[in-house]
Order: sequence, then C-alpha cells, then structure tokens
Amino acid sequence: MKFTDLNRHGGIGANCSLLEIGPFRIAIDSGLHPKFAGLDSTPSHDFLERNSLDFIVLTHCHLDHLGSLPLLSREHPDAPVLLSYASSILARRMLSNSIAVMRRQRNDLNLPELPLYGRGDLASLYDRMKPLAIQTPLEVQKDGHVLKVTLHHAGHVAGAVSVALETKQEKVFFTGDVLFTDQRTLDGAEVPKEKFDVLITETTRGGTPRDPARFRESEIVSLLEGIHKTLDRGGSVLIPVFALGRMQELLFILDEAFRKNTFPKVPVFCSGLGMDLVNHFHEISKNTNRLRFNRRVLRSMGARPLPRNLEPGREPPMQGIFLVSSGMLVEHTPSYILASGLLRDDRNSIFFVGYCDPDTPGGKLLETPQGDDFHFEVVDCIEPNHAEVRRFDLSGHADREELLAYANKLSPKTIFLHHGDPDARSWFSESLSESGATIIDPEPLKTYET
Ligand SMILES: [Zn+2]
Ligand SMILES: [Zn+2]
Repeated sequence: MKFTDLNRHGGIGANCSLLEIGPFRIAIDSGLHPKFAGLDSTPSHDFLERNSLDFIVLTHCHLDHLGSLPLLSREHPDAPVLLSYASSILARRMLSNSIAVMRRQRNDLNLPELPLYGRGDLASLYDRMKPLAIQTPLEVQKDGHVLKVTLHHAGHVAGAVSVALETKQEKVFFTGDVLFTDQRTLDGAEVPKEKFDVLITETTRGGTPRDPARFRESEIVSLLEGIHKTLDRGGSVLIPVFALGRMQELLFILDEAFRKNTFPKVPVFCSGLGMDLVNHFHEISKNTNRLRFNRRVLRSMGARPLPRNLEPGREPPMQGIFLVSSGMLVEHTPSYILASGLLRDDRNSIFFVGYCDPDTPGGKLLETPQGDDFHFEVVDCIEPNHAEVRRFDLSGHADREELLAYANKLSPKTIFLHHGDPDARSWFSESLSESGATIIDPEPLKTYET
C-alpha cells in the first residue's frame, strides 16, 4: 500500500491521509488545524487529482478530523463518505457551527476567504454520507478487485471508529483517535486483535509516560475535590473542554456529584453547541448500548448557556462552573476570554482535563509559574497567574504503553506514526524499534510505499 499524510503542518492538526491499496484510493478524515485559520488551516487537498478518490472515511466528528470534509467531498463528488451512524448525526451540528465560527473569523481576523464552505456544500456532503454499522464489513469493488472496509468502535468519543481495510493481498488497520478504557458515558474501544500487515497508529500521548499513581477514577475524584474546594472559597471554576465528548462526560460526572448533594449549589454554564450536542447524545444513546446519556442532566443540575457579556480581563458576572470550549484555550474562544477574567484571583481555578498542545495558550498557561504574568495576546491583556491551574488526566486518548502493547499484538510488518507531536512520535519510533516492524514517521506530502 501507499500512504501520504496530507496534513501540511505535520503533528496533530488538519488530519487527512491518503491510502492507496491496490487500485483503491481512500482518504481518511479531513480536518481543520485548530492553531491556524482560513486556508492555512486546511489539509493539502490539491495533492489529489479532482474526483480521484473511491471513497472517504470519517473516523469521528472533532473538527481536526471533520472541519474541512465539505471541501474534500466537493472536490470528489463521486466518493461516498463512510462513517458511523452516530457521526452522521453529530457531523451536521458540528459543521453548521463551523460555518458560524468561520463567519465570525472573517471579520475578526480579516480573512475574506471565509467561510470556506456554505450550507449548499453541507447538503451535498450529507447526500454522500453512507453510515455503516460497526463491525459489519462493506465490500467495495473496482477493476475486478475487492476491498473490505470494516469500522470498529474506537472509544475516543461518541461515534468514533477505527478502520480496517483488507484486500486479498494486504490487511491495513488505521486506529484513528482511540481510547481503550471505558468512560462514564462511553465504552472503551473494541478493536481487532488479529494480525495486520500495516498499522497506522495515533501517537497523541507518546510524550507523556503513564503515571502509575493516577487512574481515571482517582482523577475524577481529585477533580471533584478541586471543584469543591474552589466553590467553598467563593471562587469560580473554568474547565476548558471540547464541546463534543468531554463536555458531556463532565456534565454526567458533575450531575452525579450534585445529586449526591456533596456540592455547593452554583450554576453550571455551558456553550450552546455543547448543550445542543447533549440532545444528539440522548438520541444516539437510544440506538446503541455503547453510549449512555440522558438529556435530563441539563435540567437536573440547572445548566444554563454562557452569559453573553463576557469581556477579556473581567470576572464573569456570577460565581459558577464554566464548561466551555476550546479545550486548549485557543485564542478568540470563550474559554480564552474567561481565563483572562479568572486568572488574577486566587479563589478561582482553571482545570484542564484533556490534551493541550504546548504551543496553544492552554499549553503555555500550564507551564507558567504561579505568580508570574500571563499575556493573553490577542485581547492585549496581561494577568498575574494567581488562580489554581491544574491538569487532570481524563484524556480521550489511549496512553502510550497501551498503544505500544496494541501495536505489538497486531505484529504488523510496517507501522506508520500518525496524529502526534514530534516528541510523541520519536518515543514511539524508539519504543517500537525492537518490534521487528519497519517504523515510518511520515513527512507531510511525501508518499511511502510498503
Ligand atoms: Zn478526536
Ligand atoms: Zn484528533
């Protein structure tokens, strides 16, 4: 097979991969880079000749995988888009939000190319979507060859899948973003354990060793303790989260804490997108036993939409728990503005619960010593770091030791490293070097043949 990474900036970002297996040309995912805007945030779609793909697979609906799919699909109108049933529902809400965000950015960032796509492009994309049942192979035929496509439950977030692609000659497995452990609302991955020739593995957490003293459940307990202490001292809590997945998981966890009456009653504020997705989770959970969610949590804890009048450097109008995106405090997002208003007061807390790219404001804030100034550059606001800033490990990604064990189990001849920073990839390169497989850390836009 041949593999080309079309994510022009490398690392994690505008995920998009081209796989060529026999006569079949397949693209997996087409995202937007969270650190860039406009055309710079898209993958290099121009690497592909127009209408040259046989099909596209979407692994899940985070925007670094989904955000530029309408563009890719517009260029390849004959290629069906294969995805899970849950993703076919979640994609609609995520993409219409993405258009709204791009419209705002058009003015804020002075990017006349925005929005990159419109409602018409979304409608065409939805016509090309073909939901596949999990673990139910689809046979695709071309020039007398047959390719079997199977989606496997990947755990990471509702609807997330890993992809197995098999011809008579070759078996390829693409993990996508994967989490083996169960979450409160979602079962862990159910992925194949047999032999594959080629493995394309995510490497998100390759830079961080597993801490033997920390487990998911103990992290939840510490997070709840941290929130409780903050509220008791009169402070507010900001938890920067992805609107899709992490927000609903935390709503579920907070609802449990409120119902046990262990928490002071304060309002919980959420972004509109996160609250809308709650309704979608509710609907999806009726059709699968892998996702457990009920929209009642919003009412039972009195969750409400984020106040509209938030200003940089100003405390929010009332004490509360703020579950807002982005998860990495990316500039121009509600979590970024809120952090600038909360940081100077030592009663407040900012608790990160997932992966933070070291180059994002979230990554930089985590590295800022207590008492030092932090510069919120795009709103030109310098604030002393007095709040309690901590990270809890509730990641949606498997840890590196689990991924290593999984890679060894499949005993592939070739392993491609994917979806990780350079540090993360080099740990995998080294750790997999004794596996007997050829390890490839692909450069963007370079084609590798196995
Ligand atoms: Zn993801
Ligand atoms: Zn991702």
